[in-house]
Amino acid sequence: KRKKIPSVNELAEAIFAGNKTLLARGITLIESRRTADHTLAQELIERCLPKINKSIRIGITGVPGVGKSTFIERLGKLITGMGKKVAVLAVDPSSSVTRGSILGDKTRMLELSKDPDAFIRPSPTGESLGGVARKTRESVILCEAAGYEVILIETVGVGQSETAVHSMVDFFLLLKLAGAGDELQGIKRGIMEMADGILINKADGDNLKRAQRARAEFERALQLYPPKASGWLPKVSTCSALNNEGITELWGMIEEFIANNRDSGFFETLRREQNTNWFLQTVDERLKSSFYQHPDVKKELTKLIKKVGNNQISPFKAADLLLSSFKQN
Ligand code: GDP
Repeated sequence: KRKKIPSVNELAEAIFAGNKTLLARGITLIESRRTADHTLAQELIERCLPKINKSIRIGITGVPGVGKSTFIERLGKLITGMGKKVAVLAVDPSSSVTRGSILGDKTRMLELSKDPDAFIRPSPTGESLGGVARKTRESVILCEAAGYEVILIETVGVGQSETAVHSMVDFFLLLKLAGAGDELQGIKRGIMEMADGILINKADGDNLKRAQRARAEFERALQLYPPKASGWLPKVSTCSALNNEGITELWGMIEEFIANNRDSGFFETLRREQNTNWFLQTVDERLKSSFYQHPDVKKELTKLIKKVGNNQISPFKAADLLLSSFKQN
């Protein structure tokens, strides 16, 4: 049964006042597939936009079992312990298909989920990566309007989900384990370039020495990459999320990064670029979908595919014709 939906105004006011239930309701509106809800969600986002500037957005990626939820719980508690509000969101396009561990699931972060200064929301489900990423980005806006100062966005890194998360955060953290021997094996192409920091988890017990060796190895490997546009040189750190060790140091790394980027102006530059890309990407998607859904285009497309196949018309001429059947309308 659908609950009565509060007006956009009521939702916005409640979100500004820090009401978690209505924040969740707002996100549900963003995630809804009903066309009527889309309009309301967009209105709500517009209302929230002017309020979003003070946050830090942190992306966290790592394979299942690396310790993301254990780590996020510790980091989250550290942040709320400093008197800041923290929101945990997720981008996981796989969860609906595999029904695997759902990221951002409250049962994975029991202590944090009980914290009045923490808000945890699982990944939107049942969609393409693009859809999931858009909804998470929009949810970030609502969380920030609700006064969350630190936004943690986790992903398992299926498909291109790391790239999607990287494109919506200020700092991107890669969680790793010290494996047997060659640490750099099996690391996805491009992920090292994206990371602003690498954190080797489970640096405890028998694993401590290996974790320290892995740290040195990653540090050497990172030197082979050119510095970031901001001038930042990615750092490597170790921690034991289980024993709550190394979390403060990691937070120190993030604070240093943010301070550097704020000083250099790169913090703002990056956010501007991200907004621009998000805008252009949306135009691109909308243009394509309105093009291919257009009745005349659909009709022409079927005909032209045949003609092109039979060499009755060149692909270039056919493309011209198809585009003009859209333009005429
Ligand atoms: P996720 O799938 O990445 O979210 O990983 P989890 O946080 O669920 O952790 C997977 C397993 O590793 C759990 O059994 C944790 O208790 C364990 N774990 C997490 N962090 C550490 C750590 O720092 N040291 C050790 N020894 N185990 C850990």
